[in-house]
Amino acid sequence: MKELEIKESLENLANKWTIEQSIYDLHLGKRDDVSDFQLVVNGVVFHIPYLVKDKTYVLWKCLWPDCHNCCERQGRLPLTKDDISLISKKMEYESESEFIKKETPISSWNEMSTMNNVITTISMISLKRDAKETEEQDGKPLPCRFLDGCGTCELHPDKPGVCWLYPFSSWMESDNGKPVVHASFQLTGDCPGFYTDKTSQPMMDILQEYSKRIFEYNMSILRTTREKYGFINIVQ
Ligand code: SF4
Ligand code: SF4
Repeated sequence: MKELEIKESLENLANKWTIEQSIYDLHLGKRDDVSDFQLVVNGVVFHIPYLVKDKTYVLWKCLWPDCHNCCERQGRLPLTKDDISLISKKMEYESESEFIKKETPISSWNEMSTMNNVITTISMISLKRDAKETEEQDGKPLPCRFLDGCGTCELHPDKPGVCWLYPFSSWMESDNGKPVVHASFQLTGDCPGFYTDKTSQPMMDILQEYSKRIFEYNMSILRTTREKYGFINIVQ
């Protein structure tokens, strides 16, 4: 995502929420003191940004139901094979192939780390966020059609796996031939839930909960690519 787009997203957020200056600067790559603090929770390696000069960790909590910005500005909704099975039934399609034909374009993108390195290149079937969505809108923020007037997802609890993970992105790396799941924050400027703290402790319960979701999601991604529903190139 380009710096200008992130800046616009942050300005949009700042109309309603107070964003700490250090969080604002981190999003825009203006901090030269970011170190990668790694926390392993239930086998998932979380990469938490640590701001060395301030001696603070960048943490996150969800502000829903006051906020549903990630659903109002959704960039894409890639689907695992499990998602396709669940959501096609939820949307009352008689077959998955009919659902795929009517509701899903193909998305392709690079997954970036918080340190702005390309981690993986991915192509997956994705769910239209708007019934008239075009291929050119892939990656561009759109209000999701499943967000109702009360800020609730009409697909919940069968919403796409990526919606359960946000604002984390996750990927697998090979460690001596053994796949290891990693996760870091997506710093796109669309989430007002980031804050700083002197310890990482306030986020431990969230990391416990998300580690299980993230691990399961990656296993689902493996099944998806194995059955040729998507393609992922893992950068070593
Ligand atoms: S994840 Fe972030 S953007 Fe989404 S509802 Fe929670 S606080 Fe808002
Ligand atoms: S599918 Fe649901 S949770 Fe996901 S972006 Fe749309 S409204 Fe939000």
